Amino acid sequence: MRARGRLVVLHNDLLAPSGYGAREARTVPDCAPPVIFNAKVPRGPFLSAVTIDPAGNAARQDRTVAEEPGRPCIEPLRLMAVHAHPDDESSKGAATMARYARENVDVLVCTLTGGERGDILNKAMERPEIRSDLARVRRAEMDRAREILGVQQRFLGFTDSGLPEGDPLPPLPDGCFALQPLDVAAAPLVQAVREFRPHVMLTYDESGGYPHPDHVKTHQVSVEAFEAAADPDRYPGPHEPWQPLKLYYFVSFHQARFTALHEEMLRRGLESPFADRLAWLDEDDAGRPEWPITTRVPCGDYFGIRDQALIAHATQIDPESSWFACPLDAQQAAWPTEDYHLARSLVDTSLVDTEKLEDDLFAGVRERVCL
Ligand SMILES: [Zn+2]
Repeated sequence: MRARGRLVVLHNDLLAPSGYGAREARTVPDCAPPVIFNAKVPRGPFLSAVTIDPAGNAARQDRTVAEEPGRPCIEPLRLMAVHAHPDDESSKGAATMARYARENVDVLVCTLTGGERGDILNKAMERPEIRSDLARVRRAEMDRAREILGVQQRFLGFTDSGLPEGDPLPPLPDGCFALQPLDVAAAPLVQAVREFRPHVMLTYDESGGYPHPDHVKTHQVSVEAFEAAADPDRYPGPHEPWQPLKLYYFVSFHQARFTALHEEMLRRGLESPFADRLAWLDEDDAGRPEWPITTRVPCGDYFGIRDQALIAHATQIDPESSWFACPLDAQQAAWPTEDYHLARSLVDTSLVDTEKLEDDLFAGVRERVCL
């Protein structure tokens, strides 16, 4: 059987020399199927390349590459989520991962730093013996959260940059993750991509989701790894090159979701904690674009597991906080999905020709991998 597909890039946020994202629509100049699809995955022609910039302008360029014989493949689907700190995996995309893991998808969380400079955000955990041993405590919390989610996890070995506060902002600490040159910061992730061979990667958008320097850097190294891992001339290492097929950004804390939760709580006669947040989102969004949601993954049945994983990060989450103010059944009724923006795709997707949102991170991938 021969797989057919289109090379689709919805938009590009190529990294400028400054390291910050410079969004620009472009046609992917080339991609080499022998690298993108390894011997286990059916190969085929790419019929066209499509770019759509954030304003929604599309440009399509038809082209073909030599068709090569493919063969069926029964390897499992693999999902990699790239995060800055332990606990990020439990607050962004956790229910999605819990669901896919239980559907026999291999899920790996890559955590770039150890979270050593995190604050203790739960008063009950503000104790000297915890403060003095925070790195070890956070590893133990991550272990527990990983078990609850049912995923694999690995630390990639960088040191937390901390969230700089003050006016002017203090300099970042020597040697921290955010100060690493891009090639140094991305190298372990490139190797992890080649070793784990994810079909789909998840990460933050270029703003980091919020302005923590480690989150911004995490976006940069994720894009770098997505682009470089298939190139045998870059980041030489022991593993074969590998090209993930889709790259998504988390769209986790957005206005439509909080509005729905807020209204559902009011409808049930409950006191909503979201009014302040909605006002804040209103102001915040004036300053930066919100990436459009392209993909809503139904995972309401796994919100309870998500909450358990969050609570496992006991130094970071106060169980009495507003995180848990909205009852699970209200969340499941009002907004039963976790949401994403498809930033890159090398497979055909319903997004190209229709307005229809995806409901599966592996849409277009299953057809290639599981023929
Ligand atoms: Zn973080």
